[in-house]
Amino acid sequence: ILLQDHVKDLNVVVVSVAGAFRKGKSFLLDFMLRYMYNQHSDTWIGGDHEPLIGFKWRGGSERETTGIQVWSDVFVVDKPDGNKVAVLLVDTQGAFDSQSTLKDSATVFALSTMTSSVQVYNLSHNIQEDDLQHLQLFTEYGRLAMEETESKPFQSLMFLIRDWSSPYEYVYGLKGGQAFLQKRLQVKNCQHEELQNVRKHIDSCFSKISCFLLPHPGLKVATNPKFDGRLKDIEDDFKTLLAELMPVLLAPDQLVEKQIGGCKITCRDLVEYFKAYIKIYQGDELPHPKSMLQATAEANNLTAVAGAKDLYSKSMEKVCGGDRPYMAPADLESCHEAFSKDSVKFFRSIKKMGGEEFCQRYQDRLESELKEAYTNFSKHNEGKNIFYAARTPATLFVVMFF
Ligand code: GDP
Ligand code: MG
Repeated sequence: ILLQDHVKDLNVVVVSVAGAFRKGKSFLLDFMLRYMYNQHSDTWIGGDHEPLIGFKWRGGSERETTGIQVWSDVFVVDKPDGNKVAVLLVDTQGAFDSQSTLKDSATVFALSTMTSSVQVYNLSHNIQEDDLQHLQLFTEYGRLAMEETESKPFQSLMFLIRDWSSPYEYVYGLKGGQAFLQKRLQVKNCQHEELQNVRKHIDSCFSKISCFLLPHPGLKVATNPKFDGRLKDIEDDFKTLLAELMPVLLAPDQLVEKQIGGCKITCRDLVEYFKAYIKIYQGDELPHPKSMLQATAEANNLTAVAGAKDLYSKSMEKVCGGDRPYMAPADLESCHEAFSKDSVKFFRSIKKMGGEEFCQRYQDRLESELKEAYTNFSKHNEGKNIFYAARTPATLFVVMFF
C-alpha cells in the first residue's frame, strides 16, 4: 500500500483511531472515508438511505477489528501550502477486549501511536483515569526522545468523547472539548504523584492535544441490530457534529505530516519504521521505552542511508547509466568521488537520533554501500567498453585470436 509509485515518495499523514472496543471507531472511520472520497463536495456525508461501508463495523458485544488495519486507498491531497501529501487511514483492534491480553492491547495502542501523526483516542462518555494511564508508556518514551532532539516526539492527539451527555456543562464540539480537557488534564496537589506525572508529561509528548465532544447518535445506532449505517437512522445532532469534526481532522489545511525526530517522513520511510517497531513488539514483554527509542533511531538512520544512497545512484545513473556511452575510468572515478561526498553530506545533514557514535556506524555502512555500488557501475561501464571495441574489425580480430 505504501510503496505504490504514486505515493511512495510523498510525505505521509497517518490518521489513526484507537481506544476500547465496541465504541464506534470503525463506524467513525467510514465517515472519514466518505469525507476523503468526496473531498470537494458539500454532500460528502452521503444520502439518507446509503448503508455505511468501508472498515467493517457492527453491533453486538464481540469485537470486529483485529490488529491494525490500513485502508488500501492512500489519498493524495494538495495542501494549501503547496505540499502534496499522502493520507493513510488506520483502524485498530478494540483495545482491552476479552480475547486480547493486556500486552496485545497495549501493543496495538502503542504501535498506532508511534506510527501516526494524528491519533484519535476514542473514548466513551468521559476521560477516565485509566484512559490517561494508557498514555504513560509514551510519556516516558517522549522524555527519552526529547533528550535527543528538541522536537516533540508526536504530533497530534485528539480525545474524542462519544455519547457526551453533559452539553449543558461543556457544549458539543471542539470548543467545549477544549474546556473539558483543560479541566481533566489539570494537575492538582491532591492527586497521586503518578497521576500528576502523566498529566505533566502527556503535554510534553504531543505538539497538539485537543478534545472533541460528540453527542449520542441515537438509539437505532446503539441498539438496533438491523441498523446498517444509513443517515436517516442517525440523530441530527450527531450528524451536525460529525460534519464539524471531519474538517478538523481531515481538511487539507489541517493535515499534519508525520514527523520523526523533527523530520517529515515519506510513505516509503514509514515502512521502515513499521518493520523496526514490529521487531521490538515481538517479545513477550511490553517493550521498554528505551528499546522503542532505539528502534526509532535505527529506522531513522536506515532511511537516511537509503535516501543518501538513492541520491548517489541517481547522480551516477545520469553520467554512466544504461543509455550513456562508455566513460574513461578516471573520469568515472572522479564522478564517484564527488557524488559520494554529496551523498555523505546529505546523510549528515539529515537530523537523526541515536547520538554521534551510533550515526557514525550507519555512515560507515553508507560509505561501504557506495563503494559496492561504484564497483557495479564500473563493471557496467567496462562492459560498454568491450562492446564498443568489439565493433571495430581490428580488435574483433584480436579478441577472436586470443
Ligand atoms: P469499534 O469496535 O470501536 O470499531 O466499534 P464499531 O464501529 O464496530 O461500532 C460498534 C457499535 O457501536 C455499532 O453497533 C455502532 O452502530 C455503534 N456506534 C457507532 N457510533 C456510536 C456512538 O457514537 N455511540 C454509541 N453509543 N454507539 C455507536
Ligand atoms: Mg472496529
